[in-house]
Amino acid sequence: MNTDLYADIIIEISHEQLDRPFQYIVPDELRGVLRVGDSVNVPFGRANKVISGYCIELKDTPDYPVDKLKNIIEIRSGEMGAEGNMIALAWWMRSHYGGTMIQALKTVIPVKKKMTVKTHKRVDLSVDRETLGAVIEECERKHHTARLRLLSALLNEPTLPYELVRDKLGVTSPTIRSLEEKGYLRVTETEYYRNPVVTDAQAHTQYELSPRQREIITTVMDSFDRGTPGRYLIHGITGSGKTEVYIGIADETVRRGFQVIVLIPEISLTYQTLLRFYKRFGDRVSVVNSSMTQGERYDQYLRARKGEIDVIIGPRSALFTPFTRLGAIIIDEEHESSYRSENVPRYKAVNCAEYIAGARGASLVLGSATPSMESYYKAERGDYTLFTMDERLTGGALPTVHIVDLRDELRSGNRTIFSDKLRELMDEKLSRGEQVMLFINRRGVAGFISCRSCGYVVKCPHCDVSMTEHRGGRLVCHYCGHTAPMPKTCPECGSKYIAGFRVGTEQIETEVARMYPQSRVLRMDADTTKERGSMEEILRTFRDHNADILIGTQMIVKGHDFPLVTLVGILAADMSLSISDYRAAERTFQLLTQAAGRAGRGEQPGEVVIQTYQPEHYSVVTAASQDYRAFYEEEIEFRTLASYPPVRHLLEILVISDDEDEGFAAAGAYKAIADEHIGGSGRGYSIGPAPAAIVKIRDKYRHVLYVKHTDMEELVSIKDLIEKYMQAHPSRRVLTFFDFD
Ligand code: ADP
Ligand code: ZN
Ligand code: ZN
Repeated sequence: MNTDLYADIIIEISHEQLDRPFQYIVPDELRGVLRVGDSVNVPFGRANKVISGYCIELKDTPDYPVDKLKNIIEIRSGEMGAEGNMIALAWWMRSHYGGTMIQALKTVIPVKKKMTVKTHKRVDLSVDRETLGAVIEECERKHHTARLRLLSALLNEPTLPYELVRDKLGVTSPTIRSLEEKGYLRVTETEYYRNPVVTDAQAHTQYELSPRQREIITTVMDSFDRGTPGRYLIHGITGSGKTEVYIGIADETVRRGFQVIVLIPEISLTYQTLLRFYKRFGDRVSVVNSSMTQGERYDQYLRARKGEIDVIIGPRSALFTPFTRLGAIIIDEEHESSYRSENVPRYKAVNCAEYIAGARGASLVLGSATPSMESYYKAERGDYTLFTMDERLTGGALPTVHIVDLRDELRSGNRTIFSDKLRELMDEKLSRGEQVMLFINRRGVAGFISCRSCGYVVKCPHCDVSMTEHRGGRLVCHYCGHTAPMPKTCPECGSKYIAGFRVGTEQIETEVARMYPQSRVLRMDADTTKERGSMEEILRTFRDHNADILIGTQMIVKGHDFPLVTLVGILAADMSLSISDYRAAERTFQLLTQAAGRAGRGEQPGEVVIQTYQPEHYSVVTAASQDYRAFYEEEIEFRTLASYPPVRHLLEILVISDDEDEGFAAAGAYKAIADEHIGGSGRGYSIGPAPAAIVKIRDKYRHVLYVKHTDMEELVSIKDLIEKYMQAHPSRRVLTFFDFD
């Protein structure tokens, strides 16, 4: 006698009203075949339209009368399902980041379609080193930079993965082919993926670990071995040997038969870094990146599931790699904003990693030179074990930092965006043939108002964040909705130079070209990097010293190593201080610290000029002295006083509506729900609703409501209550989005 089987299915419709499991009968032929996570077709609705969905649970007893249930039609053979252990993660993500379950499921299934596994290529050196040396010399003479790059890489590493050569060294297929035709190298294709780097890894530069590095690795592994995997934050300046610690922990974890996920922001996935991992793990490591095809991703997915790889490296989606014996998750540069998803569910990789590591018994290791306030706060409270690494292993002095007060420049008649100090140093460095980077901090410059005479920024008297200029010249606070008229003169000093601050990279480029007509200038910003590969191309041109000055936005400050750069100019350091966001100071500190870190990476000592209207602001001062602790102390005080995360948690509820009154009413109802839930506990409160940053886009009205609470889970409950209310009061004209912290 067969026992009956029932399946809960999440159907593929992104509509809040249908965001719940629907139960179906598992027909005989699928019994024992259908697994939790599988993608299936089911009949849905009165018309029995065939619709796809995911099986999230199997049950022996039905929750509804059996005669009301329909049969599952089939398992969708071409589609990837979710791993069983990812279902719980999807539920967790749904409850912590909002959105529907189907959106959460699709997030944890990084590969949608099954593909035929393609062949894999590698590049082998096919001449002896002496011949190669001669060819390299010739390329140098003829300035064949792409060939030079590849051949020099092969000199160090005679076998390289084709993708690494193409994607990271930026050598095009025609170039590789022409070198192959000349007989210098061979491209080999294999059916089965074999990572070609199988060099005499250990013979290579395998230095002794420093006592500190060893201590960290041992602590992490001892906990793991005792069955109590820990959570760690490594605060270490650039060059202090963090990557080597990650590799050590990964290695030890793999030796114990477990697998490791390493997250590195895409922009820092450089050839050098990847090569270090390839050398240690050979064909047991794999890399995912955004330029991979579906087929390549599918291939990685399968290899991970089959246990053919031990270590995966990649950006945030690598977190969902289907390892069966996960032993550690390592996240480098954990403060990076790219670890936060911009699509619903807007998950944060660090928090998901914490959940996954907890559920699967894995160690969690976070590392950064400028840890996020949230992570450092957790370390302070003992949620994470903190390790500090404050010595550079490769020597190299910290740069000399000059802070220039832009108010003085205006006073002395300099109306340009280049201070006298910056120009003087630019003259000096450029005349010596050294390189200069100019950085303009343009994050979220949405029309804040400042005085160019005294640096005064118009801020909300209630929230201490800057007010934003709206059409019609009104100033609005995006947190509480407070409005004020646009001042004609500066309330602080009476100057008439008070206006929205707008300086762009293009404007700087024009100015630089005028001042230094002899210099070769590159610009890197959202406009010049639209095309795939263009960013790598700009960086490469600069590294090869085919340009003297690189102008850019925050893109240029991330982890790149340019040994010839001896001067970094930060043109308006406080621009990001003025964004209407409670993290403004944190962002500024991170950007300034990173930007300053670009100077003097080579033999020559570096200098940094920070131009600012607020030279006394603690984020500027502490970044100049590279003093993270000092910054943290000041900032946590501000967060405490103003009740911002990480001290309190913050739930942002965004209501988008066709009708202004209706949207406002919905936001008001949500506020009532939140206030009632908090009651008189004194541990939380709500603010708003207020018109959002851009009040009206495409005829939609936006309102925002904030709820603050000491306990994150309470905010999740409030979100759940509001969702219940939404299901009871469905409206097609009002859309609601939730966002935590
Ligand atoms: P981080 O990731 O903190 O920037 P890395 O691990 O990349 O630091 O190390 C910085 C430099 O120091 C690298 O060139 C690396 O090869 C070197 N290095 C790392 N550990 C050691 C060590 N124990 N002894 C000597 N050099 C080391
Ligand atoms: Zn003023
Ligand atoms: Zn306000």
